[in-house]
Amino acid sequence: MNNKISTLSGLFLMSFVPALCAAKDYSVANFSEYQAVAGELEPGDSVLLEDGVWRDVEFVFSAKGTKDEPITLAAANPGKAIISGRSNLKLAGEHLVVRGLVFKDGYTPSDTVISFRTAKPEDESDYSTIAVNTRLTEVVIDDFSNPDRYETDYWVSVYGKNNRIDHNHFSFKRNKGVTMAVRLDTEHSRENNHVIEYNYFGPRPVLGSNGGETLRIGTSHYSLSDSLTTVAHNYFEHCDGEVEIISNKSGSNVLKNNVFFESRGTLTLRHGNGNLVEGNAFIGNGVDHTGGIRVINADQTIRNNYLSGLAGSRFGGGLVVMNGVPNSPINRYHQVDNALIENNTLVNVERIIFGAGSDEERSATPSNSRFINNTVVNDSGESPFELHDSVKGIDFSGNKANFSVGDELSGGFEKVNGLTADAPALPVQKSEVGVSWYPKYEKSDRFSTDASISVEPGTDTLLDAYGELNGAGELVLAEGDYHLSKTLLLDTPLVIRGAGKGKTHLTFGRKSLVDLLNGSALRLQDLSISGVRAPDDKANAVIRSDSQPMTKNFVLELLGVEVKDLDINKDFDVIKLRKGTFADNVLVQDSSFSNIKGSVLKLDSEKDDYGMYNAEYITVKNSQVSNATGGLMTVYRGGTDESTFGPHVHVDGVTVSASPAADASGSSILLHGVQRGLIENSRFDNSAPIVVQHTVGGPVIRIDDNRYNHKPLYNVESVVPGMESTFSADNNNFSE
Ligand code: CA
Repeated sequence: MNNKISTLSGLFLMSFVPALCAAKDYSVANFSEYQAVAGELEPGDSVLLEDGVWRDVEFVFSAKGTKDEPITLAAANPGKAIISGRSNLKLAGEHLVVRGLVFKDGYTPSDTVISFRTAKPEDESDYSTIAVNTRLTEVVIDDFSNPDRYETDYWVSVYGKNNRIDHNHFSFKRNKGVTMAVRLDTEHSRENNHVIEYNYFGPRPVLGSNGGETLRIGTSHYSLSDSLTTVAHNYFEHCDGEVEIISNKSGSNVLKNNVFFESRGTLTLRHGNGNLVEGNAFIGNGVDHTGGIRVINADQTIRNNYLSGLAGSRFGGGLVVMNGVPNSPINRYHQVDNALIENNTLVNVERIIFGAGSDEERSATPSNSRFINNTVVNDSGESPFELHDSVKGIDFSGNKANFSVGDELSGGFEKVNGLTADAPALPVQKSEVGVSWYPKYEKSDRFSTDASISVEPGTDTLLDAYGELNGAGELVLAEGDYHLSKTLLLDTPLVIRGAGKGKTHLTFGRKSLVDLLNGSALRLQDLSISGVRAPDDKANAVIRSDSQPMTKNFVLELLGVEVKDLDINKDFDVIKLRKGTFADNVLVQDSSFSNIKGSVLKLDSEKDDYGMYNAEYITVKNSQVSNATGGLMTVYRGGTDESTFGPHVHVDGVTVSASPAADASGSSILLHGVQRGLIENSRFDNSAPIVVQHTVGGPVIRIDDNRYNHKPLYNVESVVPGMESTFSADNNNFSE
């Protein structure tokens, strides 16, 4: 690096220049050079990180600039200084600028990647360890995720006052913990006037537990304080971590002109009063669990927002006005009072709910509130309104809809046949946020690839072919017998496609055929798999997820697959997902399973009851299971928080026989804490019952249109005493 010399000579010169000299640019090539200048910075100075990878570095950037002469820490060339490994950045002082850094290929060793303070002050009047009037701009944090998905950290913790966070790019936070948090835990961080604008909040994959929020402002503890934070012109794309995209937990914030694109969850006014939500666009495109705005507390204004194609329900609906708890403790639900919901446009929003959460505890209905001059259009002609309690405290007037709103609301609505609402220009375009020099997310099919290899029968020919692919691709297996003497360790997407059931046969000589590692996705298609050559060992499985935690969510599909003879030992599942691993989708279709000493789907490793689970969507269609001692599936989502949409289970057109045998203990299907379940059009013969264990969150489980020849078909148990069950069963027919 040529700059070493220039840096040293720069330092040399600096020691001879008088204190009131012009601002200096320090070019630094490594961390010790950074540390050498970090304590010397004067107003107007810049520290420029040279191109290259900065590994295992913990920057402390503590300095005092002035309004006209801030002090800058920047990449010499934007995007070319890569911070990786176990690294972070702490800021303190005033009038600082951080610009152009990229954090990737690593994670923070502390609880935060970028913190606007170096330490919590011991004395509230001392703010020397906090950053104020500081700007974070054009910084990228991309998948800088702790390898253990349930280790908690933040990417950006904002303390202090008058800080500006703009034009940054944050995507693929995969571990637990809010992406960006505005913290109010000392006096000097309240009434902060921070501005968070023009940032790209890229995909935040489903976490599978609480702690997947993208932005949180405040906490319940300080929620009656004003934060005065502005969040404007940000673009939230596929922020799917959990039920809250933004968790607003403080007062007098402004959330305006943001775009929420196909993001699951809602902007939630969880705590704090007097917030303004204005001019935002929520574009759901009908994607599952896309939501809008959830209103709680006093003096909230929701106006001029455009909400479209939102499929969310319950607390995740398009517009949800909640009931409160009378004299609520600070961490529960304060009554909605003096809310103004005005001039919003809602198009094809599936649920608009008033009095949401109404129950014995949450009995305080909204008061002194107005819902006026809103336009609601649903192409279906169906009303999206749900009244879960009295709406006497809400004045409805001047609203328009293209459908009948029902008697209780009709006074406040004009029904306009043929009413339409044009989609307005988005308040901010994706191209206007983040940085131009770092690519934003583009949707793609995980299995799409041009790489395809034909494989001939034999021992380990499949393993050799995967080695040859050297990445994602497809292996096409001819008719014949294939044996794997080693487990296939998969860390890329892969399709293994045979010539058909009964034509392409796979056996394996280890405890598993495939282990799914971080980065994997697997589709097995048109194959027969037998366990006859597996070892007589414990805990075998055809497919297992890694024994280590995995940050990357995977996809697993079995299409037209026959699995048999997993009875070489006493403990042999077809699919077993292990602790700390998470599938976005598990799909089994047109497949058959017989003589299994375990479960077809064993997804119950998260038994700690912390609200974690193994898969978001579990679907089994048009398949047969016989003589599986562990039944078709065991799905476990423990805990009592209401932070996740899943797991979802759908069983359709499946025959389950002697799985496990009717006189055995256990269940043919165990759904513990499953949030959405539908078991339909299936047949259960001589098998143990379906067991549904309700925990929390108002799960919706239906068992409809099935046939069975043993009793009972199902048992429903409530794990939380007194919880209302939303279980239903309809048109199930018993025949001997
Ligand atoms: Ca949460």
